[in-house]
Amino acid sequence: MKLLLLLGGTSEARALAKRLHPDVELISSLAGRVPDPALPVGAVRIGGFGGVAGLRTYLQDNEITAVVDATHPFAANITANAAQACAAVGVPHLVLARPAWPHGDAIVVADDRHAAQTVKDHGYQRVFLTTGRSGTTAFRTSDAWFLIRAVTPPEPETLPPHHEILLSRGPYGYDNELALLRDHRIDALVTKNSGGSMTRAKLDAAAALKIPVIMVDRPPLPAGVATVATVDDAAEWVRAR
Ligand code: NAP
Repeated sequence: MKLLLLLGGTSEARALAKRLHPDVELISSLAGRVPDPALPVGAVRIGGFGGVAGLRTYLQDNEITAVVDATHPFAANITANAAQACAAVGVPHLVLARPAWPHGDAIVVADDRHAAQTVKDHGYQRVFLTTGRSGTTAFRTSDAWFLIRAVTPPEPETLPPHHEILLSRGPYGYDNELALLRDHRIDALVTKNSGGSMTRAKLDAAAALKIPVIMVDRPPLPAGVATVATVDDAAEWVRAR
């Protein structure tokens, strides 16, 4: 392994950087969406590459010898771009995709638009919306009231008329999630199937209070990509290069 590009923005990416640094030379890449991001150990670059063409150029100019894509399961654009760019220039490429949450009793929907339609169809009135800053647009014309939790504020024009915004960053614990659902008299939870332990307490709290969950399913991974589910397996893949 000469130089690994680690596409990050997740706790798994930071854990992988910590596992590999300094034995493996690596550069972690962040999109630059959140102010004051949690930084991994080792070298970091911040900002988009400029699509597939930009990423191809980056891989070649920096003589990157392998790429691990440890971005969030819903970061479908960078994941598609990385798969294409790596295939085009022949750089080994691995996706570290944390396991999805079991659906349980959740109403599973394909995207935010279907989640908004489900809220409407069921007549939910007080919704805890946790699909992030880019997840509010589909609910813009909804009559329900929303508690919207996001790391950075959504654009005002994407917001439904009745809402409260809660700016915060995980991890979230069970007791706090339970109190949040109770105090706001939430009658439905809308979440992406992000997986992982940092944000799963809301599912346990919703189950305890018998609050229905509308779960947006993950976008599919690009066809044919090599995938692992754990930081351990990703580290092993890197060390075997
Ligand atoms: P996205 O829709 O897949 O990416 C949009 C664009 O942002 C990409 O085309 C790329 O720009 C740039 N980008 C994304 N991740 C990058 C990275 N790690 N390094 C450099 N450029 C990156 O992604 P997103 O959903 O906006 O997520 C952005 C970042 O936040 C990701 O790194 C992800 O791991 C993290 N994150 C996302 C979520 C989520 O729910 N989506 C949750 C937690 C963390 P160019 O085309 O210009 O290269």
